[in-house]
Amino acid sequence: MGLFSSNRAVWLGLILAFAAIPLIPGIPDFWITLWDYIGLYSLVAIGLVLLTGVGGMTSFGQAAFCGFGAYTTAVLTSQFGFSPWLTLPFSLATTGLAAFLLGLVTVRLSGHFLPLGTIAWGISIYYLFGNIEVLGRYDGISGLPPFTFFGHSLIDARAIFYLIWLCVLLAVILSLNLLDSRMGRAVRALRGGSQAAESFGVNIPRVKLVVFVYAALLAGLSGWLYAHMQRAVSPSPFGINAGIEYLLMAVLGGSGYVLGGVLGATIVIVLKDHLQNILPKLIGADGNFETIVFGILMVAVLQLSRNGLWPLVQRLLPKPAEKTVDESAPALALRTMPERGALLLEVAKARKQFGGLVAVNDVSFAVKAGEIVGLIGPNGAGKSTTFNLLTGVLAATSGSIRYRGEDIAGLKAEAIAARGIARTFQHVKLVGSMSLLENVAIGAHLRSGAGVLGSMLRLDRTDEARLLREAARQLTRVGLGAHLHKPAASLALGQQRIAEIARALCLDPALLLLDEPAAGLRFAEKQQLAELLSQLRSEGMSVLLVEHDMDFVMKLTNHLVVLDFGEKIAEGSPAEISVNPVVLEAYLGGVE
Ligand code: ADP
Ligand code: MG
Repeated sequence: MGLFSSNRAVWLGLILAFAAIPLIPGIPDFWITLWDYIGLYSLVAIGLVLLTGVGGMTSFGQAAFCGFGAYTTAVLTSQFGFSPWLTLPFSLATTGLAAFLLGLVTVRLSGHFLPLGTIAWGISIYYLFGNIEVLGRYDGISGLPPFTFFGHSLIDARAIFYLIWLCVLLAVILSLNLLDSRMGRAVRALRGGSQAAESFGVNIPRVKLVVFVYAALLAGLSGWLYAHMQRAVSPSPFGINAGIEYLLMAVLGGSGYVLGGVLGATIVIVLKDHLQNILPKLIGADGNFETIVFGILMVAVLQLSRNGLWPLVQRLLPKPAEKTVDESAPALALRTMPERGALLLEVAKARKQFGGLVAVNDVSFAVKAGEIVGLIGPNGAGKSTTFNLLTGVLAATSGSIRYRGEDIAGLKAEAIAARGIARTFQHVKLVGSMSLLENVAIGAHLRSGAGVLGSMLRLDRTDEARLLREAARQLTRVGLGAHLHKPAASLALGQQRIAEIARALCLDPALLLLDEPAAGLRFAEKQQLAELLSQLRSEGMSVLLVEHDMDFVMKLTNHLVVLDFGEKIAEGSPAEISVNPVVLEAYLGGVE
């Protein structure tokens, strides 16, 4: 449910009021034209909101994708006699293909290399448009036909207004739907460090590529509209300057909010219009001085309000509804669990070297189904690194890891998650701004197949209800049922750790890896956690537990493996380990 029913009336009212703007008697054409441009820019900015604001991938090159959309229709209509309406699929296909190819090389870049990459191709494509003969070089192509509608040409600014804003409305709805889905959660998780999402089976490169192409398609749509509104195309609107303006719109409006894109486009276009009139008079020379103001504005917004201006506007609007959990949604299918006592995990001579440092030194141990095995040792002993080897976050330097009879040592994190190994992180990895419910639902990512298109068209609702119900059920089970809709960041760190357990349980794991789950918990909370873990064990779950609280570990575990400086120094029952002289020496000599 994207919009709440009483909200719906408000939104419908706002949309109708907006649709009436061109009908206001005496409103100058000039104003309508300005709104047309705002609509065109909004489409691109909405894409950037998803790409940059939500997905964390900064692109300076979006204008180039408008170019692909615009030039495709320009060539087809002017040289092949197509009607403008018929070229839309071609414009989108060229844009999508270009985005797919550029995306393949771009989205894998990390850190500041990604924006730099977009600048590089953003500039190249501008020169490409300007140097191709059939595209009219720097003069471009002119004399394009306008859109026609039942014999009427949409030449008038008022007529095309409705076409443009209908596209904007659709883009807003599809984008909101996408964000509010299984794939949308995956996109939002890109920001919170994608490692957690990866450990629950999210295919990160694919998700990045999907948002990248989606954002480009919106830009391509904008370019297609632009070509027939202007009835001419040339390279200049598709260069890097325009790319920077689009980015400014997304950042200024509110980089995490779909409607922030529209707000940003409105502010930038109106401001640009005024500045272009005022600044040359003030300065006494001609030039694009507004660019300077925009640069200052961008830095100021980034300094003062990271989330842009949309949150300020949002306060005036009805509050979006909380997600509802449908208790009657059918439960998700369950994995067949290994038989109690069967050999579940068998680590043999696992080794991990970081340069000269041997973090895990030929360690061997096993976990049987239905056991809680403790992996203990002083800080830096190699416990978390062992978890990373088991879950495919890191590749082992050598050694084998067999799980349910299969060697999983070379598999990717996603593939290992699919086989039923779920984990929590020593350093909590939740998306702070996302609700606990949605964070935990990421754990169930692999238990549904809802795709991008289905989500945008709301065909995923039954699946989505099942995922959310599962997330709510696991949160309630770990004792966080009262906090479903709170942003993860608003909870105490100890509770966030517990939420990570709920997320791991959403995978329906056969093996649960818990990295210091009791750290930061109060006494009563630790007792609850211990109860939960022994209950899980009684249901057949196997747990590998890293924990410093010895009381907690000794009471709960069936078996202990002790690491020190990467090596296994002892192994045995809790009673044996508690009197083992080598272990005592390691602990007394260590930090504990
Ligand atoms: P534990 O979880 O037992 O406290 P870790 O597995 O986190 O220990 O770390 C074991 C050793 O490996 C430490 O010396 C740590 O500094 C080192 N280490 C862990 N991860 C990396 C990494 N990505 N690169 C280099 N060294 C690392
Ligand atoms: Mg650790």
